[in-house]
Amino acid sequence: AAKKNGGNRGELFRPSLYEETTQLVELDNDLRNALENGQFHLAYQPIFALAPGTERLVGFEALLRWEHPHYGSLQPGVFIPMAEKLGHIHVLGDWALRNALRQVQAFRSAGPELDLKINVNVSPLQLAKPGFAARLTDMLGQMPDLPSHALCLEITETCLSDEAVSEALGAIRALGVQVAIDDFGTGFSSLACLRRLPADIVKLDRAFLKNSSAEPQDDRFFAAVNSLIHAVDLKVVQEGVETPAQIDFIRATGADFAQGFHLARPLSIPAALDLISASRQDRPRPPDRT
Ligand code: C2E
Ligand code: MG
Ligand code: MG
Ligand code: MG
Repeated sequence: AAKKNGGNRGELFRPSLYEETTQLVELDNDLRNALENGQFHLAYQPIFALAPGTERLVGFEALLRWEHPHYGSLQPGVFIPMAEKLGHIHVLGDWALRNALRQVQAFRSAGPELDLKINVNVSPLQLAKPGFAARLTDMLGQMPDLPSHALCLEITETCLSDEAVSEALGAIRALGVQVAIDDFGTGFSSLACLRRLPADIVKLDRAFLKNSSAEPQDDRFFAAVNSLIHAVDLKVVQEGVETPAQIDFIRATGADFAQGFHLARPLSIPAALDLISASRQDRPRPPDRT
């Protein structure tokens, strides 16, 4: 029933056990074929630095999309867990990484002075499997013009206690590749954990921001969280910025970077290139112009 007229995520999520099993088997085959058939692509959501009075484009987060022949456009929240469960995440993750690296090279040549970066999400399963850092070294080696600081890998905080993951993160950071802790604040990180975070950037989850209101203690709370993160020499990206008021709020409380629908949705490649070209034209603007 879930296969009728493509693209209903709700149906995909509420099957009977029989349907669920059948769908998993189908999706197993589908995932296997999807890469060969070019059904995956990446969308690019801009990330901005919160310079005083303005927002400056610093890079993009690559987000996977799957054009499924029956279900239509599938979001990663649906198929990433399945790809993980079915063991396809390694091939899929390598594909995303390779494509994102190739694309950021094109973005960078479209605006060389912007020094644009690319953020790529990686599953803990990818990091825990031996050989990830070696493959990454290979990929970067094949792109001599791309500095390793142009790549940032995003991982969630849930996997940091895994020995194999910490080891991989060490090797990755030794390459000069940045590491960001994604969806920070929703998991179970302790203060001790924050202190030893093997990362360069913390991305504060949007759920965090959503709960903030106009209460004065929210200002103090956010300012304190930001200083705590800055105290251990990490930068802060606020995710899920949806309103102009939220921009003012996170700027005032000390976030370094922002990402969210208010600033920009995940973009197609042509739309990202348009933004890059508009950002270049912005540069000569005198700083006092608003
Ligand atoms: P994430 O890494 O936290 O990515 C941010 C998600 O929030 C994206 O959803 C993005 O479209 C959405 N978002 C951005 N700004 C806003 C906003 O202002 N409001 C709201 N409500 N949402 C916003 P998306 O693309 O559906 O991705 C969901 C998750 O799937 C990602 O969360 C990431 O964990 C995972 N994912 C995406 N691409 C990949 C990939 O290539 N590999 C792996 N392993 N995971 C991926
Ligand atoms: Mg992410
Ligand atoms: Mg995130
Ligand atoms: Mg998030």
